[in-house]
Amino acid sequence: ARELEWANNPPELIQQHQQTNGSIIRTRFPPEPNGYLHVGHAKSMNMNFRLAFEKLNVPMEDRRTVFRYDDTNPDAETKEYIDSLYQDLTWLGWKPEKTTYSSDNFQTLYELALKLIRKGLAYCCDMTKAEMEIQRELAMKRALARNVGKDPDLEAPVPSPDVLPGRNRDTSVERNLEIFQKMKLGMMDEGSWTLRLKMDFESSNPNMYDLVAYRIKFTPHPHAGDGWCIYPAYDFTHGICDSLEDIDYSICTLEFESRREPYYWILWALDMFRPAVYEMSRLNLQYTVLSKRRLLKLVHNHHVRGWDDPRMPTISGYRRRGFTPDIINSFCMDLGATRAANVIEMEKLFNKARTILSDKTQRAMAVLSPILVTITNWDENKDQTMIFEVQNSPTDPSLGSHTVELTSTLYIDATDFRMEDDPDYYGLAPNKAVGLKYHGGNLICDQVISDDENGKVKELKCRLDNTPEKVKPKTHISWVSATLAIPCEIRVYNHLFTVPEPSDLWEEELNPESEIVYENGFVDPSVKDLVDASFVDKWKSNQALQFERMGYFVVDLDTTFDSKTGQGRLVFNRTVTLKEEVFK
Ligand code: ATP
Ligand code: MG
Ligand code: MG
Repeated sequence: ARELEWANNPPELIQQHQQTNGSIIRTRFPPEPNGYLHVGHAKSMNMNFRLAFEKLNVPMEDRRTVFRYDDTNPDAETKEYIDSLYQDLTWLGWKPEKTTYSSDNFQTLYELALKLIRKGLAYCCDMTKAEMEIQRELAMKRALARNVGKDPDLEAPVPSPDVLPGRNRDTSVERNLEIFQKMKLGMMDEGSWTLRLKMDFESSNPNMYDLVAYRIKFTPHPHAGDGWCIYPAYDFTHGICDSLEDIDYSICTLEFESRREPYYWILWALDMFRPAVYEMSRLNLQYTVLSKRRLLKLVHNHHVRGWDDPRMPTISGYRRRGFTPDIINSFCMDLGATRAANVIEMEKLFNKARTILSDKTQRAMAVLSPILVTITNWDENKDQTMIFEVQNSPTDPSLGSHTVELTSTLYIDATDFRMEDDPDYYGLAPNKAVGLKYHGGNLICDQVISDDENGKVKELKCRLDNTPEKVKPKTHISWVSATLAIPCEIRVYNHLFTVPEPSDLWEEELNPESEIVYENGFVDPSVKDLVDASFVDKWKSNQALQFERMGYFVVDLDTTFDSKTGQGRLVFNRTVTLKEEVFK
């Protein structure tokens, strides 16, 4: 109940804020540089850079968003993460008003801590972590007894005053200033002392049980350097930075709802401007995990190729997989601003990708697992032209056209051939005719040559039938020329997890087939220009391709292929299938 009182800005602070901000409305996006940004952050960015302003009817020219590194825990933060956060944010197209670091306020935060000590609202505490845990449990039990209308002194265990409210609460201001000074100078051991806020052990909100504002850590800081050995805690830092930056709306995820009270308490205690705090639901996506702790574990335990593995729900992972900023942002826009906790279907994101990629992508033929086909009557067909003009996109003529050339040997995909035919099967089988895409004639399989060792199909001897009396085939299969096609590796992605909502045993629920690598794939040479274009600016690449009947693909960023010399390795990643598919 006192939360409302603490949250209330005194008139002079409102006036001051209006003077500095004028008609400007400011939000902030404050990730901690302890991992890469993921699609949950994309929802938060969409909220802070766009949706919040739309909801509030703020005109374009008055919108401001601060990008803040919330960097108060040097143990988990690195320069690599700092750089990646900025890259991903700008890749998504968001333009911050300015970039700030919580750590740039370390001196100010320290002075504000001194102010609280002098006001009798903060004290140095030598309780161990375990003691603080007991203290917290006791206070919670007593709050519970009070809430159900019982006498806490009778119903809940009677604490020793040494533990609750704790032996350090009544230390004098002078002594507290002295100990805090020693903490800052590095004269106290790590873990021996903390600075705590003198809040309220009678509260039913455990986040009001004298939060730790400062702890000792002899770790250098990736941004602030090695000048500090005391570091402010998240809860202490966050609201103060919001206030110092003149933020109007501080938007966070729902699990922070119970931290709104300490947020306001701290700003009240310091007589600082209080931004309006709003919570929205955290994005959860099916078949993946969105917690940096878990994502970090996937990377460290080599379950994926890195933070930017195409299976990761990170912004860099989606980029490498061929998702565009437009796909991610408009997916987030569709999610809107919700408070209901929910798990979003992965297909929603995939469908967004299909919609956005479908009209804009050039088509090409490719095979994943090649079967060699030799056309036995090639000479008889030689007087015909074997070069065909193909529209890059059947729906968008502005994308132009390319040619494909048929040669006497070609590759078809293993899924387009079966030893046993079946009425429901449209592909090629012994003694069966199937249409050949773009050429229009039929391929008739006369002979199957198998490997003596393992019985695998090595080669098919086929006839090309282009006579007027040829049978009408049920389908036309795709192919590439065996002499002209470019060898490539094709990586096909399935869900990272076998279950839609990974449990606490999530590491056992990883999908062993989340990545299937086809090392001996082939793609027709028309993609050369696109592959080259991807290299002009690897960062922007995303030259999406549609491999006919197989899905949308993109050149992988670690490809080394040089189309002039034909040297190097060419790798494609599948972005999504053409249609929704039941995954393994
Ligand atoms: P994690 O638990 O993965 O470490 P976090 O909230 O600590 O998540 P931050 O880097 O501090 O991660 O997050 C920056 C901002 O992005 C915060 O405002 C946070 O609320 C928001 N955010 C993080 N994850 C999600 C998510 N899954 N959905 C929506 N917003 C999110
Ligand atoms: Mg975190
Ligand atoms: Mg955080």
